[in-house]
Amino acid sequence: MYIYCEPEEKTLEVITVNLHTELIEKLYQCNLCHLCNEGNLGPTAFNGSMASPIAIVGEGPGETEDQFGVPLIGNSGKLLDKALWSVGITRDRVYTTNIIKCRPKGNRTPTVDEGSFCATRWLDNELAAVKPRIIIALGSVALKYLLNANARITKDRGKWFQTKYGIPAIATYHPAFLLRLTGKELVKAKWETFYDLQAAANRCTEIEPDYLLKSAAPLDLLALYSANKGKQRGISESNVRKENANGNELSHSL
Ligand code: SF4
Repeated sequence: MYIYCEPEEKTLEVITVNLHTELIEKLYQCNLCHLCNEGNLGPTAFNGSMASPIAIVGEGPGETEDQFGVPLIGNSGKLLDKALWSVGITRDRVYTTNIIKCRPKGNRTPTVDEGSFCATRWLDNELAAVKPRIIIALGSVALKYLLNANARITKDRGKWFQTKYGIPAIATYHPAFLLRLTGKELVKAKWETFYDLQAAANRCTEIEPDYLLKSAAPLDLLALYSANKGKQRGISESNVRKENANGNELSHSL
C-alpha cells in the first residue's frame, strides 16, 4: 500500500498516475538482483504526493522501512520529518523514494554498483513519471548516483547541480548519518542540513509559488502504514533470480 494525493481531473495527470501505478506494481515483482535474496520482505515503494514539485531521494530501506514497505519512516524518517517541518515542509506534500528498493542484509550501506543497478531500472522511470521540479538527495549513495561516483557528501552538499533528468538537485546529509553524530559535530551537521533544506524549500517556492509545501500538522507515517507491517511484498521466495547487481547471470533458486 502506498499513498498519493489524488490529481485533479486532468488527462495528463491521470495518465501519469496510471503509468506510475503500473510501474509500482511491476516493481513489487522485481527479482533482478541479489538484494531480493537478503532476507527482506520485498521492494519498498514511495510515499507522499506525486503532484509535488519536490522529490526526496534517500539511500535504501532500513529495518523499519522494510517492515512497513515505504521509505524513511523509522527513526531516520522521524528526524527527516522534524528537519522538513523546521523549513516549512511536511512529508505528505513531497514525494519520497529511495535509490535502492530492497533492504540490504543487516542494514549495510548499499554499494554504488547496487545503487546504479536498481536506480536505472526503477528510480529513473519513477522520476520520469512523477516529473518533480527539484530533487533533494539524502546522503552519499543518492548523491553519487545523481551527480557522479566521485562526489562526496561532505564536500558537495548544499550546492545545486544538474541531474541527467534535467532536474536541479541539492544534496544534504542522510538523517541516519545525523543520528550517529554527537556534540559539536551533530550541531554543525544539523545546521548545515537546515540550510540545505531551506534552500530547497525556497527554490521550490520560486518555481511553484502556489504549491503548498506544509500541511497543518506532520503525518504519523508509522500509524498511517501500520496495516502493512510485516507483510511480504511481491514475488514468492521460490522465484529464480536472473541477474546480480553487476549484471552477471545468477541461476540459483531459493
Ligand atoms: S533491482 Fe532493485 S527492486 Fe529489483 S531486486 Fe534489486 S534492489 Fe530490489
